[in-house]
Amino acid sequence: MTDSRTSRQYAGIFQSGYEMTKAKPKVTSIAVLTSGGDAPGMNAAVRAVVRVGLHYGLRVYGIHNGWQGAVDGGEAIEEMTWERVGGIIRQGGTILGTARCQAFRSREGRLRAAVNLYRLGVDGLVVIGGDGSLTGARILSEEWADLLRQAAENGEIELAAEAVPTLAVVGLPGSIDNDTYGSDMSIGADTALHRIVTAADQLVSTASAHQRTFVLEVMGRHCGYLALAGSLAAGGHWVLIPEEELHPRWHQEMVASLQRGRAAGRAHGIIMLAEGARHPDGLPLEANAVKQILTQRLGVDTRVTVLGHVQRGGAPSAFDRVLATRLGAAAVMNLMEVGAEEPPRMLGIVNNRVKATSLEEMVRKSREVVERLDEGEHQTALELRGLSFKEQLKLQELLTRTEANPEQQRGNLLVMTAGYDAPGMNACLRVATRVALEQGYRVLAAQFGFEGLLRNEVAALGWMDVSGWASRGGSELGAGRFFLQEEHLGRVAQVLREHEVSALLAIGSMSAYQNVAFLQKHRQEYAELEIPMVVIPASINNNLPATEFSIGADTALNNIVNAVDKLKDTAGSHRRAFIVEVMGYHCGYLALMAALASGAEQVYLPEEGITLQQLVEDVHRLRRGFEQGRRLALIILNERASAVYDQNTIRRIMDEEGGELFDVRSVILAHIQRGGSPSPFDRILAARFAVAAVEHLLEQQGGRPCCCCVGLQGKQVVAVDVEEALAQIDWPHERPKEAWYMELKGLARML
Ligand code: ADP
Repeated sequence: MTDSRTSRQYAGIFQSGYEMTKAKPKVTSIAVLTSGGDAPGMNAAVRAVVRVGLHYGLRVYGIHNGWQGAVDGGEAIEEMTWERVGGIIRQGGTILGTARCQAFRSREGRLRAAVNLYRLGVDGLVVIGGDGSLTGARILSEEWADLLRQAAENGEIELAAEAVPTLAVVGLPGSIDNDTYGSDMSIGADTALHRIVTAADQLVSTASAHQRTFVLEVMGRHCGYLALAGSLAAGGHWVLIPEEELHPRWHQEMVASLQRGRAAGRAHGIIMLAEGARHPDGLPLEANAVKQILTQRLGVDTRVTVLGHVQRGGAPSAFDRVLATRLGAAAVMNLMEVGAEEPPRMLGIVNNRVKATSLEEMVRKSREVVERLDEGEHQTALELRGLSFKEQLKLQELLTRTEANPEQQRGNLLVMTAGYDAPGMNACLRVATRVALEQGYRVLAAQFGFEGLLRNEVAALGWMDVSGWASRGGSELGAGRFFLQEEHLGRVAQVLREHEVSALLAIGSMSAYQNVAFLQKHRQEYAELEIPMVVIPASINNNLPATEFSIGADTALNNIVNAVDKLKDTAGSHRRAFIVEVMGYHCGYLALMAALASGAEQVYLPEEGITLQQLVEDVHRLRRGFEQGRRLALIILNERASAVYDQNTIRRIMDEEGGELFDVRSVILAHIQRGGSPSPFDRILAARFAVAAVEHLLEQQGGRPCCCCVGLQGKQVVAVDVEEALAQIDWPHERPKEAWYMELKGLARML
């Protein structure tokens, strides 16, 4: 498989606005189906497959009810149009329907499917589903030529003697369990995590009111991802998953950890249980068994909540919409470019890039995890789950450890949130505080960032002070954009000296980086500044250096997408275009992702600006759309896309030109985007950054103490010198010189 080549190629294609190479596409008619368990986001994938296919002049069929529709043929296979997939990006489930199909497991069933697809001239197939569905795809691909020959012998079809037509097959991972090898995330998993975390937040509030402990059972027959990530995001107190081997006295450890929480003042507990968790002897571990242990050994009032199918339902999260859209588009590009020249493959997302893995390998490795677990070989199963999974497990263990036993006193760590507030800052503070306390630091917190520091608003932060912070929006400490000047340095040094600060951790946006770099520059003047300092990226704009994601951006994106979903409901009987202005400052990340996730017709980005010429063309395009029956159009505008053509101007121009045909409304989402409880992704990112930052501080022995920032690059959290990081910024636009998201611009425009 040419994995790296494939992903690089796609990056290039996205960049160049999807201009195909001169070569003729290797497929002409493609079909798409969703199969197995449904997963939110499948519709976004179907939409992308259909529209990208049509864009390149392919014929596109939608197969209803998974493999069953392929076997049945006839009305179960529908020719798709651009409009047919309009408005579905926000719908949960799948408009094509899904089913388990016994018939397809037999050769006779697959013969029927092959005949049906052949008769329609289908030469490319996109299958969205779990490893079962993709196994079916692999087998069909293997048997394809044989099946057609057999059908010809039966007289069902006519085959030209010299060549049997090929079938190119691409699978996409659709599974809320996130149990698919070859993709860091599968379509639907992030949405399921949203459901779990919302439920857990709600349980926490009732649990703490009644001093209760809850056992929350979540999906995952063979995979603990949802339980583990759900627990990390919701601040769960113990987690039980299939991948972790329970030793015979595991319950004593669990009870001891919860007891420790109670001793620290926590009145409630949340135990996250994956449905596939097992006793040490391999038998299923029931939620009620956990409840009994807690009731009897811990003597607490314990209740069980089984979330069940709630986890599958509802509108997909922003992440799932973008992921599914990227993968759906890449599937069609891959079919056109590679065709049947390479064996059937799955396209997944690895290190935030599209990557192909052969279906054979994907199915084998995904199944192997299950087999290893059945054999009780947990370590091998864990290795197969990959780096992020192992890291999250380590993180969970760190946060629920039975004993804090710092080997040494490490002095005072000063924490603060600086720059604009962002959802997830509290989740980050919570983990940073607890990990630091466990490592022997005393934790001090400055209110209102560097400004509060100058006012000496510094107080100790204890283990229970940060209780419940995982789910809280904004910053409990208060944040604010403020720039240190030379005249402040003496005062900063004085406050640091007074509190005997030995390390500094600032969670925040660009000004946090700039202030830390400024302090670093003046180190030789004040001995108090010779301490390690670490910045953690937090900004809804996602414009910070040395990281692909900053804390808060995913929540803001979900806030935008949810608001746009609501707006779309209000179009009523009018033909209407909405202009939605979003934040981002000079960085188009939010606008571009919001456009992709909400299915916008146009997006205006600060990286590109707006010209009069473009506005004229866009007005013409809108007119044509409404003339052809469109009822609603959506335009996403970044707040700084143009100094001249602002939201008001664009609205007036479009409204005037729309005449009787359509009217235009503009909406400025403003600070709504920054508010609310952080998304699961932001909370987990916050926890990972917090741990990495504290670990980095701990590594500072001897030599000059660091001044660095942590960031997410691919799957890894890395530390980079602050000066070096700031050199990656395009000033005065305050955005990274190299922006990975701009690769998706062509895709957003095309859809
Ligand atoms: P998932 O795709 O979510 O793993 P299943 O394992 O239930 O879901 O598979 C969905 C469908 O895929 C099955 O009902 C069947 O039609 C098809 N399928 C699964 N395994 C095979 C197989 N070994 N051979 C042929 N088809 C299969």
